[in-house]
Amino acid sequence: DVQEELKQLREHLPAWVEASRLHAAKGKVAGYIPELAGTPANALGITVMDASGECVTVGDCDLNFTMQSISKVFTLLLALMDRGEEAVFAKVGMEPSGDDFNSILKLELVEPGIPFNPLINAGAIAVTSLIAGSGPAEKTKRITAFFSRLAGGRPLVCNEAVYRSEAATAYRNRSIAYFLKENNVLEAHDDVEEVLDVYFRHCAIELTCAQLARMALVLAHAGRDPLTGEALIPSRYVQIAKTFMVTCGMYNASGEFAIRAGLPAKSGVSGGILALVPNRYGIGVIGPALNRKGNSTAGVHLLETLSQHFGWSLF
Ligand code: GLN
Repeated sequence: DVQEELKQLREHLPAWVEASRLHAAKGKVAGYIPELAGTPANALGITVMDASGECVTVGDCDLNFTMQSISKVFTLLLALMDRGEEAVFAKVGMEPSGDDFNSILKLELVEPGIPFNPLINAGAIAVTSLIAGSGPAEKTKRITAFFSRLAGGRPLVCNEAVYRSEAATAYRNRSIAYFLKENNVLEAHDDVEEVLDVYFRHCAIELTCAQLARMALVLAHAGRDPLTGEALIPSRYVQIAKTFMVTCGMYNASGEFAIRAGLPAKSGVSGGILALVPNRYGIGVIGPALNRKGNSTAGVHLLETLSQHFGWSLF
């Protein structure tokens, strides 16, 4: 049960973190966003939070990091709440791509111009265009308010330096977005640069492991914040998001992660990973060194260790 697991976590987690930290040496901090390149490569921190808000926190947990691709799960949820399932899935597919997260290669294979899924960059940019609001500032404000609410209420803030750094160098994402525009996935009324601006800003929203764990906890409890009792997201949409996390959340290493850990999870190029154990825990991890597929090497190792020790795999 939860109390016994928390006890074991308190006992073993420090050793597991140190063992996993060694795996950071096999990875590299993302360099394509210049501002991320300075992050300490062998940092590793984790928070596991249960339904009562009790936390086990180990390692470099004071580190603030940007959400990057983890934000895509939550913009998907907000877009579903704003527009409904039909409108969202008119713009993005439901299939893993088998390509890198920023792939431009296979954009046309599902349907003409329709990105494979909402968690690759192409799909996430399309989803961002669906967020309700009168302009980019209001959309960003709605996204930030939604994320902050899920993270426990304290207002989250965009890291301006990371945002500017990405916006100034995002040639690939710009290419993808203009391609989406050509194919009317971004529509006549969507200004490409404005959509990208909202996208870069939500990727640069900064938080801690504990805040990430709290967001995960809401997903672990079908959209209801177990600490406040508030229903924040319809359970059907959480089900959709969790399914994407299993099939696409770790990019084209999602199959391997499903076999080794078997938990819904989403990684980002900052080295963050959000994971959850349904009906039990929200988990936030940070470990900036990434493997070739763009996932935290130490973070993946740590989550696999935990899941295998406790038998958390869903499968
Ligand atoms: N902001 C990043 C990008 O668009 C997010 C990618 C990621 O975290 N994998 O390139």
